[in-house]
Amino acid sequence: MAEINAPDAIGSRPRTTVVVLIMTGFLLSVVSILLLIRSHVSPSPRPPDLRDCTRIEFVYQQSVMEYFDTLAAHSGLLDSRERQFLQSLEQVTVHDSTIIRSLANNVRSGQYSRTGGGMTRKKHPVKVNCYSNDKRVASFTLYDSVFIVTDEGRRFDYDGFPEISSFAPQLNPFVVRMCCARMLIAIGQRLGVGSDHKMEYPRPDTWCDQFVGIPRVRSSRLRRSMMNQADGYRCIGAGEGRCHYAMNPNCRPDSPPDMVLVFEANAGWNQHGGPELFTFEHHNPRGGCILLNDGTVKFIRTEEELKQLRWK
Ligand SMILES: [Zn+2]
Repeated sequence: MAEINAPDAIGSRPRTTVVVLIMTGFLLSVVSILLLIRSHVSPSPRPPDLRDCTRIEFVYQQSVMEYFDTLAAHSGLLDSRERQFLQSLEQVTVHDSTIIRSLANNVRSGQYSRTGGGMTRKKHPVKVNCYSNDKRVASFTLYDSVFIVTDEGRRFDYDGFPEISSFAPQLNPFVVRMCCARMLIAIGQRLGVGSDHKMEYPRPDTWCDQFVGIPRVRSSRLRRSMMNQADGYRCIGAGEGRCHYAMNPNCRPDSPPDMVLVFEANAGWNQHGGPELFTFEHHNPRGGCILLNDGTVKFIRTEEELKQLRWK
């Protein structure tokens, strides 16, 4: 048998060489084609590079009040001077190199979106102009702190664009107050405040337990701030703690509309009681937010104002 197989074994050597040559040729062709394709497909566009900027302007359509929509919508959250200030501020200009560097890093983290610049009419646009000395090096529009569209129509998405207070520290008190008011609004929505179907409020001694989770809210910006506080109800102006609010046990769905329902308190859980629990210390200037039984939110600044509220 060995003698019969010998000629086949010798003849298989050239055949193996041919197969190897064909395979190598095939692989080389595939690699060449891939390289050719790669050289013709342009890489995804990159977000604007702001690293050399010396000045960045954020220009609002009317005023910076567009950003503070919750403060604009509730008359009891700003006094007349504060309201006038926000309404008169049309743009925020950043010169600080540390803040510019941080903004540049954030802008560079954007993901290119093939969606383009369409479908943006419903958002709040803020024009952002970036200068290196006096030369404008980039310009884009920021929509609802979620994505930007460059002047060339390229869109980049962000997990979270920096809040206005990170590049305009003077506006931080308003950001804190707005977030606090939104938290109370979200709590009110959970309680069914303002709805036609009046359900009972939770038992005051377990109200937080019944509330843990992310409330259903329509606004994407509000939902994100809720997500950050998913396991509690915090005021961002307060320190440690899981919940910075207390419930008024005297308030029921059929109580007068101006009765205090939930208000700002020191850290705790399932807190309930009256004005003795209220705190002015989370905000600058001093004050705290309250939610009334009809869904109104207010910023209370003095002991006198606090006493004038309906607690029973
Ligand atoms: Zn607060």
